[in-house]
Amino acid sequence: MEQIGFNKPYMVGRELSYIAEAHFKGMLAGDGRFTRHCQDWLERQTGTHRALLTHSCTAALEMAAILADIRPGDEVIMPSYTFVSTANAFLLRGAVPVFVDIRADDLNLDERKIEAAITPRTRAIVPVHYAGVGCQMDEIMKIADRFRLLVIEDAAQGIMATYRDRALGSIGHFGALSFHETKNIIAGEGGALLINDPVFAERAEIIREKGTNRSLFFRGQIDKYTWVDIGSSYLPGEIIAAFLWAQMEEAEAISTRRMALWKRYHEGLKGLEEVGRVRRPLIGADSRHNAHMYYLILRDLADRTAFIDAMRAEGVSCVFHYVPLHSSPMGREVGRTAGTLDVTTNLAERLVRLPLWLGIEPHLDRVIELIHRVLAK
Ligand SMILES: *Cc1c(COP(=O)(O)O)cnc(C)c1O
Repeated sequence: MEQIGFNKPYMVGRELSYIAEAHFKGMLAGDGRFTRHCQDWLERQTGTHRALLTHSCTAALEMAAILADIRPGDEVIMPSYTFVSTANAFLLRGAVPVFVDIRADDLNLDERKIEAAITPRTRAIVPVHYAGVGCQMDEIMKIADRFRLLVIEDAAQGIMATYRDRALGSIGHFGALSFHETKNIIAGEGGALLINDPVFAERAEIIREKGTNRSLFFRGQIDKYTWVDIGSSYLPGEIIAAFLWAQMEEAEAISTRRMALWKRYHEGLKGLEEVGRVRRPLIGADSRHNAHMYYLILRDLADRTAFIDAMRAEGVSCVFHYVPLHSSPMGREVGRTAGTLDVTTNLAERLVRLPLWLGIEPHLDRVIELIHRVLAK
């Protein structure tokens, strides 16, 4: 079989002409016309108060940690089954990541285990919407309200997905999105911070602009700009925004095509679940996901390793996902666990992700057939 990679970035076609437009107009620094288009689109798409483009989701999480005023020794509750940036953004402010187990059904932070993890030092909760499937946000927001905590959604995988008809990333105080080339809508490297609580909007612009009030100055709200706060350079240049805008214009079409692929896997692999050979993704009734990922849960680590090897031998690249942060060298050193992480440990060893990218369509039946063949042995 022809080699099938795990991911292949999809280009809509207009990216280069928009980049050329930025080039010819000599608009290369950030916050130009394309950045505004992207931010306006995000505000419409998610219903957030304010969207700010960043150079990554990691950067958006770092901004959120600054805006949340996280201090050394503060505790931040998050799943262990996530990407390192979820934890690093808060660690950079001196916080202690507190790892809580995930739900066995959708692999999201288990909201029933959050309360037991809260101490007088807890400042924030960071739910991660795994595979673009929403966490139980209503329950999480209730807990946050009761204990006066901030909620920062790691919605890196969540563009175009909703929980109870609200966009992922738009429900907590902040949401962080990613446009990394492995996500649904891409800019190579890119991200956005959604500021859902207007209280934080002005300071967010300042922190993103190196701690200056430059944005207020350009809007004519002040007559000179100066250094007023801590900050860094979190904004992408217009070349990135131009690329991203081309993608955003096609976001609906991209979503529709990804969903069709996701459904072909889901239908095509149904038989394997019926005979108890695998478990397919479970999507709760509250969620409209975005087909970010298709995964299977296999029997155990040995089963998964054998599966990945057998698929690779036939030219199809399948990959596992996170090494749980609580078991990584850094996580063990700087984090704390609350309760057992049995579900995390178990599922992290059994989950395998299948190739899902636009352009795989003509090969998908063969990939599904191959999966059946490999798992029949
Ligand atoms: C991709 C991802 C990130 C990091 O996104 P970048 O844009 O690469 O910084 C963070 N968290 C999760 C859950 C992700 O999937």
